[in-house]
Amino acid sequence: MTEHVAGPGGAADLDRRLADAIERLGHGLRSLAQRTAREHGLTPLQQQVVLTLSRQPTVRREVSALAAEFDVTKPTMSDAVTALERKELVTRSPGSDGRRRLLTLTPTGDEVARRLEPWDGPLLDALAGVPADDRATTLHSLLRVIADLQRQGVVSVARTCTGCRFFRADTHPDPTAPHHCGLLDVPLPLADLRTDCPEHQPATA
Ligand code: SF4
Repeated sequence: MTEHVAGPGGAADLDRRLADAIERLGHGLRSLAQRTAREHGLTPLQQQVVLTLSRQPTVRREVSALAAEFDVTKPTMSDAVTALERKELVTRSPGSDGRRRLLTLTPTGDEVARRLEPWDGPLLDALAGVPADDRATTLHSLLRVIADLQRQGVVSVARTCTGCRFFRADTHPDPTAPHHCGLLDVPLPLADLRTDCPEHQPATA
């Protein structure tokens, strides 16, 4: 239930400062992404596509899936992919239905992805300085917020535990592993909650 305690030091004030902090993080990461993308002659969206294609299972390497993933329109994503094809970083090949639509990195694209991979190193370094327990509870809290935003339609794609139909909240007494995965039938330690689970199915499905 939402708390409504206004004024300095109240819950509403804390929420405001948390929202400001998350927004500040977003600005910092966007500027970091712009810098690394520019260094490789890419736009931030093209950089995200290259990195995603290097990690995604084949089934999600399509313009429409990438557009949903990054909350952009299909024409915008199509333009980004066309630019990457021109730069010889990406090729399209026939999907299972025979149409030309499956996206794959070229060997040059693979090399660029490898060089882009540490783009968010400063963030990972900063996180490494936070105690492990705090990181686990922060992950838990952020995933709860993401699941809520997904329910409100603000976040479109998130294959996280907290938005999954197999997620059983508060099933175990252990505060470090209170939740349960109904599919794998195992407790879910806070530190192991997933942000991109291949088995994820939306809670609303
Ligand atoms: S299936 Fe994956 S996303 Fe869903 S609860 Fe289990 S581990 Fe989490």
